[in-house]
Amino acid sequence: MPRPTKASINLSALTHNLTVVREYVPRSRIMAVIKADAYGHGLLPTANALKAADGFALLELDAAISLRESGFQQPILLLEGFFSTQELALFEQYQLSAVIHHSEQLMMMLDSKHHTLDLFLKINTGMNRLGFAPEQFPAVMSKLKENISTNTITLMTHFACADQPSQKESVIQQLQCFEVTTRGQNYSRSLANSAAIIRYPSTYADWVRPGIMLYGASPFADQNASSLNLRPVMTLSSKIIAIQHIKSGDRVGYHGLFQADRPMRIGIVACGYADGYPRHATTDTPVLVNNQRSRLLGRVSMDMLAIDLTDIENTELNSPVILWGKDVSVDEVAHHAGTTSYELLCALAPRVEKIAY
Ligand SMILES: *Cc1c(COP(=O)(O)O)cnc(C)c1O
Repeated sequence: MPRPTKASINLSALTHNLTVVREYVPRSRIMAVIKADAYGHGLLPTANALKAADGFALLELDAAISLRESGFQQPILLLEGFFSTQELALFEQYQLSAVIHHSEQLMMMLDSKHHTLDLFLKINTGMNRLGFAPEQFPAVMSKLKENISTNTITLMTHFACADQPSQKESVIQQLQCFEVTTRGQNYSRSLANSAAIIRYPSTYADWVRPGIMLYGASPFADQNASSLNLRPVMTLSSKIIAIQHIKSGDRVGYHGLFQADRPMRIGIVACGYADGYPRHATTDTPVLVNNQRSRLLGRVSMDMLAIDLTDIENTELNSPVILWGKDVSVDEVAHHAGTTSYELLCALAPRVEKIAY
């Protein structure tokens, strides 16, 4: 018997979530974001389940090439573009699209003979991460138009706060900045991530870039995924590999962080932070054991964690445990660990076997 820790990947949930995106944006093309090994779900199985997407976006060149070599014909966009002239040749060879966000990249292109890429020109409208400043934009555009036979140019920006209901103003400001900067330019546009797709129809434009919602998690702290009709794609599961009976006053795990105030039955689960379960999850983080909700106790270890079996019936050695999935959402676990589902999903450790079904 192998170690029972595994991540099951529900491919039909991915396909379902893509249709949910379609319902929001029937008139936009969908660029499915599959960076970071498809948010930890596995690149190729995920891309296959999302093959009806109009394009893919990621930032790892080797992954982009393997998508092309697997036969995907859609646009494949590299979200940080190219990092060297050598890479430019590969972009051309594999017909990859590039975000261009910096004048150094512009120079690289102009100095090379690779002038036929599809480009997504990124404008910094307020996030201050990547992109040309609005003041630089006219000069960049004219340089591009003079020198380069780009197949297509798409104008692009990214929102800093579309997931924050208290910061609507920030989205509106970024949108206005984008509109003013790109006014009169007859090119396609791409702005929206998952949060903007769900809450800001004014941002839709030609291409949308959903990530987290495709994986069935919510971009919002104030709205859960199931209320958005999104289905969780990943189930992280394991089994109980030991049972302890403790007395009132006994402590559990490293630093004795949890102390029993009554006699308790404790289950030890084969899953820890080296599998990607967050070490910062606190006592009371929900888990599912034999389909019943229970809770984490004390500090998560590298390879194991402890759960409460005291009032839970029909649990024994080898009882199945779900760390996140359908009835315990990854968003809930993330909330108890002071982080987001994004971080938990893409931190799934390579040692955890992924089983797509
Ligand atoms: C990751 C990413 C997205 C997807 O964001 P979600 O919040 O996961 O929908 C979209 N656009 C860019 C530029 C990104 O880096």
